[in-house]
Amino acid sequence: MVRLAPHCWIFALAVLLWGAVGQGTGHAENLKISSIRVHNHGDYTRFVLDMSQPAKPSIFTLADPYRVVIDLPDVDWAEDANSGKEGEGLVAGYRFGHFRPGNSRIVIDMTRPGKIAKVFALPPGDGKGHRFVIDLETTSRDAFLASAGWPKDQKVVAAQPRTPIIEPRKKGKYVVVIDPGHGGVDPGATGRTGLIEKNVSLSVAKELRNKLEKTGRYDVVMTRDKDVFYSLDDRVEIARKAGADLFISLHADTIKDPQISGLSVYTLSEKASDKAAAELASKENRADVIAGVNIHKESSDVSMILIELSQRETMNRSVAFAETLMPQLKKETTLLRNTHRYAGFVVLKAPDVPSVLLELGFLSNKTDEKNLKSSRWQANVARGITSSVDQHFKNEELGGYYTSRQAFLK
Ligand SMILES: [Zn+2]
Repeated sequence: MVRLAPHCWIFALAVLLWGAVGQGTGHAENLKISSIRVHNHGDYTRFVLDMSQPAKPSIFTLADPYRVVIDLPDVDWAEDANSGKEGEGLVAGYRFGHFRPGNSRIVIDMTRPGKIAKVFALPPGDGKGHRFVIDLETTSRDAFLASAGWPKDQKVVAAQPRTPIIEPRKKGKYVVVIDPGHGGVDPGATGRTGLIEKNVSLSVAKELRNKLEKTGRYDVVMTRDKDVFYSLDDRVEIARKAGADLFISLHADTIKDPQISGLSVYTLSEKASDKAAAELASKENRADVIAGVNIHKESSDVSMILIELSQRETMNRSVAFAETLMPQLKKETTLLRNTHRYAGFVVLKAPDVPSVLLELGFLSNKTDEKNLKSSRWQANVARGITSSVDQHFKNEELGGYYTSRQAFLK
């Protein structure tokens, strides 16, 4: 045994303490935004951020719809960061939240093409702290298009899928990827009493992860496990990189008619099963637009991928899984009529991963909204999904899928 002389102990303690202090002070405080203000001055609209310290956001504009994107380091938002805000003047509204680790984002929707006329920072004064000011002025569509677009230095970052750490696949276990819809700067739908889709999808996803892991039969990968944004392409890429055997995307919808309620299951199809399904898909596919992401070319090429035969096999298996979900979930909650529907959801497009999208219910319906935030209901639904995942793999092991595929090929 090595014995340290007393002065060595003191030295070791000093190193430990120094380390602890170093950690405490070396970690810079997050930028805090205490308020965001918009004011219409007639010939320009002013957008002001009240901040705890000076910051240099990166600002750019995107077309169709006209947007201003403000990228910041990680921000602690003082305001309720969950829902979109109304604007005035050129600003139709704005959203803010975490975009990806280390990066927060504000997206301004404009009523018409606008140019960034002035950008400046103000030091503390007049009883106010650090401020960052953007003045927007009306411009022509041509002028807007000439200057709009992703900044050059960000192009590479945007094109690369941000893959979370995925554990290597353990032998004998199926990999199930759970995809909580929306997140960060993209809140998704908002309910009657203010319940936010991105929060519902995440809590149900966590509940489902726990239930699946408890069986000991699955390796579960989440596309996100916190309030952060991932593009639709990234989510697909995460599933493929994880070697997913199954991909389950979780969402909740809103609809004009407050009477409509119930859970529904969607699988990918070139042709939507009905108008409502097509509308829903285009709504869900707008997630990237909402978060101010340039939509990659391949996102719009869903129909091209769909004609691949490999995709057809995957689609058959997705349909087979959807068919196991319905009877299991019927035991746990109300189902929407024509529970299983088809449409062109971008997030379901991985050509080699059976994928379904679950709309857990309608935030616009009183009973559904109550259910969606109840942890008991969430646990019941997670139990139903877990039973159908069990059933699905049992069927596949028994060759159930191959039977249906042969039936398909006839
Ligand atoms: Zn959604």
